[in-house]
Parts: sequence; C-alpha cells; structure tokens
Amino acid sequence: MKILLVDDSRAIAMVMCARLESFGHEVRHALDGQSAIDLFRAEAFDLILMDIEMPGMNGFEATTRIRAQEGHEPWAWTPIIFVTATDTDSNLVTAIEAGGDDFISKTVSEAVLQAKMKAMSRIAGLRTRLSLANAKLQDQANRDGLTGLLNRRAMDLQVDTLWELATRAGRPFSLLMVDVDNFKKYNDHYGHLAGDECLRAVAGCIDRCVQQAHDDRTALGAFAARYGGEEFAVVIPEVAPGVHAGLAASLVEAVHALRLPHEKNGDFGVVTISAGGACLAPAGGEIKTLFRQADELLYQAKGAGRNRAEVC
Ligand code: GH3
Ligand code: MG
Ligand code: MG
Ligand code: MG
Repeated sequence: MKILLVDDSRAIAMVMCARLESFGHEVRHALDGQSAIDLFRAEAFDLILMDIEMPGMNGFEATTRIRAQEGHEPWAWTPIIFVTATDTDSNLVTAIEAGGDDFISKTVSEAVLQAKMKAMSRIAGLRTRLSLANAKLQDQANRDGLTGLLNRRAMDLQVDTLWELATRAGRPFSLLMVDVDNFKKYNDHYGHLAGDECLRAVAGCIDRCVQQAHDDRTALGAFAARYGGEEFAVVIPEVAPGVHAGLAASLVEAVHALRLPHEKNGDFGVVTISAGGACLAPAGGEIKTLFRQADELLYQAKGAGRNRAEVC
C-alpha cells in the first residue's frame, strides 16, 4: 500500500516508517496537518495513519478537512487510522466522528500492526477493483455496442465541450457526416447479421483513418462516433484549412479499398460510403449550423453518384 503517515514527531515517524516499510509498504511522511492535506491533494493514498496531538491543526481537524476534499464516489474514501498515545473511549468516539475508521496505540505490537495493515490492504484492493469496474462501466455507457465507437450521447457531450473550447480559442472546427451507400439493399441481399458485420468493418476502417490523422497530427483530437443506424460522424476539433477535405476523401477511399462485396451497390460491386464535410469558425455561428451543412453536403454526395465526399 501507499501510506500517508502524519506525525509531528520525526523520531516517532521514523520508527513507524521503518516498521511499515519492513512490511513492504511505501510510506510518505507529513509533519503537520496542513502538509498532510497538501500531500493528499497531490497524490493518491491507500491509507492514512494520523497522529492526534499536533501543534496547530490537530489530527481530527486534518481528517475533517481531508474528508471534505475527497470525491463522493464510494471508492474515494481513504481509510484513516488514528495513532495516539492516549487511547481513551472519548478519543475513539471523536476520531470516528471526525471521519476516522480505526484507532491504534503508538505502542501497538508488531503482530497487531501487521494484522491491521493486512486488513487495510484488503480494503485498498477492493477500492481499486471498484474504481476499475466503474471506469469500465462508464466507458461502456459511452460506446456503441455494435461498433465500439463513441455513441451519439457521448459524442454530443464531447462536441458541446469542444465547440466551447474552439469558440474561446477562435479556432475553426470541422465535422464530417458519413453514410454507408445503399445499405438497405445490403441488408436485403445479405441479411441483417451480415449487415451488422459490415457496419463493424466500416466503423473500424473509419476509426483507423481518423486515429491515423490524429497520430500524424493533421487532425489533432479528431474522433469518430456512430451517429445512428449506418451513419457516422467524425469530429475534428483542431484543424488547418483543407484538412477535413483530405480526411473525408481518405475515408471514402479506405472503405472502398476494403473491397467488401456489395452486389447491389450500383456499379461499384463493393461497399462504399459517402461523406459530407463542413468547417466553421465558431465566431461564425452555431454548432447546429455545422451539422446542417455537413448533412446537406452528404446529401449532395449521394445525389452526385455516391462513393464520394463533398466538402465546403
Ligand atoms: P443511401 O445510399 O441513400 O444512404 O441508401 P441506404 O439504403 O443506405 O439508406 P436507407 O436510409 O434507406 O437505409 C439505411 C438502412 O440501414 C436501413 C436500416 O435497416 C439499416 N441499418 C441501420 N442500422 C443498422 C444496424 O445496426 N444493423 C444493420 N444490419 N442495418 C442497419
Ligand atoms: Mg504528536
Ligand atoms: Mg442513412
Ligand atoms: Mg445509407
């Protein structure tokens, strides 16, 4: 565990540090309440061992302040054990009231200290697992189940934030709307399950292109999302002039190059997409204008024969 040891006595802290380190824990020492609060703010700990009697801010007050700045998630609760010379009943009650979890004496035996640390390690393990499970759930809630891309809800949230940032920075913002060509016919001909597979392949291809554009820094921060059905959106929050046009063209080309058979897609014979792309300086309007423009251009790309991109 990573332990924060708070004690105003260097001598006592040194002994305790040595004991805890001999059990395999990593220990950071704070000499007073305020330093403990500052360290807690800067780093994550599995356990805090808190002295009660300290000049200035005592251990109870430091604990109350640490609790006040903790997150509200269940795993944010860092166990705090008070360590004191006077383990009276009233001290115990005050300790729990202040947000402490347990109480040990400064003269605690090796066996008891080790046993308590073992129990605390179990809790630390639970907190880590809980926090990881939650992060995974959060991620799943933001992703589309079929393609693994961001879903519409997550995209809308991101777009709002990014648009706001672009507005403040006076930076242009681009959007591509992408739609699979004659996809109803694909489903009718190959079946819905094959349709799902096809969407997954197209989504993967779009995602790789967008990731590449981000990695080679032509479209920093760009990401793809499943807009709905067989439609995808590509958000490009930082863009140099013309970059969105290049990315749109490369998406169309890359999907065509997959050579996924689609007998009913006109003369193409393979799965293709059409794309519409627009770029707007935030000062020049609202985000919905950008969506409308991209949508209109997508419509034009369809009308002009599909398997192409139209951008402005
Ligand atoms: P266009 O080239 O003009 O876009 O023609 P289209 O046939 O692709 O467009 P349309 O809007 O008529 O049909 C879209 C089809 O996409 C209809 C719908 O069943 C299918 N679709 C939407 N979501 C899914 C999905 O998750 N899985 C599968 N297999 N099909 C889907
Ligand atoms: Mg003290
Ligand atoms: Mg469509
Ligand atoms: Mg379509």
